[in-house]
Amino acid sequence: MIHFVGAGPGAPDLITLRGAKLLAEADVILYAGSLVNPALMEGKKATCQVYNTAHMTLEEVLAVMERTGNDCEVVRLHTGDPSLYGAIREQMDALDRLNIPYDVTPGVSAFSGAAAALRAEYTLPEVSQTVIITRAEGRTPVPEGEKLRDLARHQATMVLFLSAGLLTKVQEELLAGGYPPDTPAAIVYKATWPDEKAFYCTVGSLAETAEINDISRTALVTVGRFLEGDYARSRLYDPSFSHGWREAQL
Ligand code: SAH
Repeated sequence: MIHFVGAGPGAPDLITLRGAKLLAEADVILYAGSLVNPALMEGKKATCQVYNTAHMTLEEVLAVMERTGNDCEVVRLHTGDPSLYGAIREQMDALDRLNIPYDVTPGVSAFSGAAAALRAEYTLPEVSQTVIITRAEGRTPVPEGEKLRDLARHQATMVLFLSAGLLTKVQEELLAGGYPPDTPAAIVYKATWPDEKAFYCTVGSLAETAEINDISRTALVTVGRFLEGDYARSRLYDPSFSHGWREAQL
């Protein structure tokens, strides 16, 4: 059986209990070495075979899965949550063709890790109730209608993965799409790792901030007025508001 497991954003205690149990029981671990914290492998069985897939092609990963997937417990460890930029669909489709069973264990995504690092809430009442999770177009194309300048029109909270090395273009597109240059932004480097860093800036100074601080990878960019001080208090906890679990206090 193959278990796709979300490793969490970096800190080894941010994997789920289920993910940690699967790792401890694994006969084979295939981990995405560029971003998964190797400390997660410390509790593995002495006999466990470990592969760092940073150096492998899809075909090589599948060859290991094909050789071991029917008789062993195999963990395919992806950074954050595997459903975001995890390239798991192509692996799952191949496993379907090979008749090898698999399941998926979710993880804490880096975008949650970044919010925690910033001690921020992405969805503030009357500021933004939408989070756009996206990436800048680089060598991987982005479909028509999802260009940054189109998404920028919403003025919603935005989180950009895989874009820290492309911030000159990101900044241009966000400005062209309508975010005012003074819109707050933050670059979060290695959220939840011991060397985590957060840089507060504005949409107009994103590229410069990354350059000055030498950030070009393993970082998320967050954009929006959620980083400011103004918002309405939540209705959920407002004494004058009734809902399914609480009557209004008059
Ligand atoms: N599935 C992962 C994302 C994989 S794409 C998740 O849910 O988090 C890899 C990108 O994620 C990196 O280029 C970077 O933009 C971001 N990333 C991953 N871990 C990060 C971390 N600890 N801090 C900041 N960004 C991170």
